[in-house]
Amino acid sequence: MQLSNSNWEPIAFLTLKLSTTQQNWSTYDRKLLAIYTSMKKFRHMLEGREFIIYTDQKPLTYAFKQKPDKYIPRQLRHLEYISQFFTDIRYVVGTENKVADALSRVEIDAIINPPILDYKKFAQTQLHVSEIQSLLKADSSIKLEKQHFPLEGVSLYCDMSLETPQPFVPKNLRQVVFQNLHFLSHPRISAITNLISKCFFWPGMRKDIKNRVRACEKCQRAKVFKHAKAPLSTFALPDAHFAHIHIDYFGPYPPSKGYKYCLTIIDRYSRCVA
Ligand SMILES: [Zn+2]
Repeated sequence: MQLSNSNWEPIAFLTLKLSTTQQNWSTYDRKLLAIYTSMKKFRHMLEGREFIIYTDQKPLTYAFKQKPDKYIPRQLRHLEYISQFFTDIRYVVGTENKVADALSRVEIDAIINPPILDYKKFAQTQLHVSEIQSLLKADSSIKLEKQHFPLEGVSLYCDMSLETPQPFVPKNLRQVVFQNLHFLSHPRISAITNLISKCFFWPGMRKDIKNRVRACEKCQRAKVFKHAKAPLSTFALPDAHFAHIHIDYFGPYPPSKGYKYCLTIIDRYSRCVA
């Protein structure tokens, strides 16, 4: 992606036609091939940089933690190539990997206009959730009780152990709740976690929200989650002429006597320019 007029835009897409043999490979192998091929193709952009690979193939995120004898030679060859770079492979749910699938999935409308949270459906879904029962058994600190919400006109099961009663969100409504709040301004992970946890509740919500932000198409396009910062370092002063020189070149300039570049050499001890 590159920044153009304060918008992040994709730099390049890569498509690949699989050979007849490759079509018979497992999904894991085909996704590994996709990563391997794109890294080879974009090597000039990737070298010396920290970057993140997002894939919907979860086992690939553990690829570098497995013993080498688990792989066949082709997989090893691909993994070995990938490992030459900074290898941060993360999982993203396939349907949420909008950057990679932007060309093949038409869901732009859903990205711009999040679905509206239907409280009647919310209340109905809660009733059919066996998760509530198992949750009560597993964690005695949670106090689930039915609360009436006059504005929405529904009664919802809420966690009463906190300051304000927070409705329990069943699994299939969590993305809707997330989208309704996150899509307002795409705040960072900690801010959106605080905001959602003030209004709603579900087990393991912090980690879940973090994953959903990481999978958010707009955040993926516009935000950097990890900054590489190299500390400033000092190096010892030289104690003689030409013990330490700085070399640089600049150009190209319009040719002068056939030369376009200028080489500079500075002696660090005397600061003499050559
Ligand atoms: Zn976002």
